[in-house]
Amino acid sequence: MNILVINAGSSSLKFQLYNMDNEEVLAKGKVERIGMETAILSYDPAERQGIREVAEVLEHTTAIQKVLGMLMHKDHGVLSSMKEIDAVGHRVVHGGESFSSSVIVNEEVKREIRRLFDLAPLHNPAHLLGIQAVENNMPDVPQVVVFDTAFHQTMPPKSYLYPIPMVLYKKHQIRRYGFHGTSHAYVSERAAALIQKPFDKLKIVTCHIGNGASCAAILNGRSVDTSMGMTPLEGLMMGTRSGDIDPAIVPFAMGKEELTLNEVNSMLNKHSGLMAISGISGDMREIVRAMEAGDRNATLAFEMYEYRLRKYIGAYAAAMNGLDLLVFTAGVGENSAELREALCRNLTFLGLELDEHANVQRSDAERVISTKESRIQVMVIPTNEELVIARDTHRLILAREEDVV
Ligand code: AMP
Repeated sequence: MNILVINAGSSSLKFQLYNMDNEEVLAKGKVERIGMETAILSYDPAERQGIREVAEVLEHTTAIQKVLGMLMHKDHGVLSSMKEIDAVGHRVVHGGESFSSSVIVNEEVKREIRRLFDLAPLHNPAHLLGIQAVENNMPDVPQVVVFDTAFHQTMPPKSYLYPIPMVLYKKHQIRRYGFHGTSHAYVSERAAALIQKPFDKLKIVTCHIGNGASCAAILNGRSVDTSMGMTPLEGLMMGTRSGDIDPAIVPFAMGKEELTLNEVNSMLNKHSGLMAISGISGDMREIVRAMEAGDRNATLAFEMYEYRLRKYIGAYAAAMNGLDLLVFTAGVGENSAELREALCRNLTFLGLELDEHANVQRSDAERVISTKESRIQVMVIPTNEELVIARDTHRLILAREEDVV
């Protein structure tokens, strides 16, 4: 069974085509600058030359047409006909309280994704455009949606409610949802499997730290807390996002600096975090480079990033009354030995002991980076959200076929 995985943004669309018989990626690529006459198409089939092209792509339906065109290209294609795509799986950021697992798309599911536009105004409208674009091009192909929020739906009310008037939750569903759920679920399960311990008997903290960053407390296989909240702004300090701040700063800064709501929103999402403190970049690679060259602001940015993450790890160890496994993933988590080292150096009180040699080994592999004596195992697990989407899609389509039979 071939499954096309799609991550549709407002002006970009990323895709990967999987052969689910062996979970091989047959091709992947993206369409960027959708809405422009000079959109950029890139396509990389396995073991064949790719395509780079500039073309007019004014909306998502055309973007999908282009993707299909590349997948079936006479020289570079991996498919001979559209019929070879059995199903499409989409990443959807916000599933609200309605979805605690992946589902097959129908009219009701689309209505619900639309109803949640308010909670994810930058993401859900784009995802729905992606779903409709697939429908326009391949009306008979079943589609599945996989939600970033679904894994965290197991959080208890004491984790997901904010201590503000209940009417705001009841009327407007203001609560913690959490994000990166697909990644937290994948890396925690992989980590448990690799060390051959039962996932449902472990206390795990997962740190998904990339451009966006969140950590999660996973107790006996279920997410019981996570650092992102109603939106992906809460929690850890990120590349350009502030993470936690005193909420009273918002009206105060608005008054003092005469900022509009849009401006303060943009300040907290795009001009804060590592970028704001270092004055250099929101990219951890550049922060580490500048720090090594002696830049004091970069050093402060790094220290704040590490300190804030460490406090969450401590809080989640307390939330679960213990910790067995600490997992790092995503761009910073997988690649920054410096950050992992700084964190673990200050977590020795938990009985955690980093294997400094293993930590600095350059590798894309899943690996343990704690010593044999360490009471807490520390692991690096490269995340693979696309594979989870492909697997969920495969599973749901097979189950539906069995039902029909
Ligand atoms: P992601 O959102 O998971 O793609 O992560 C992207 C982020 O990972 C980039 O913005 C970088 O800050 C970070 N990153 C990637 N490679 C490295 C590296 N070698 N060292 C530190 N940070 C890195």
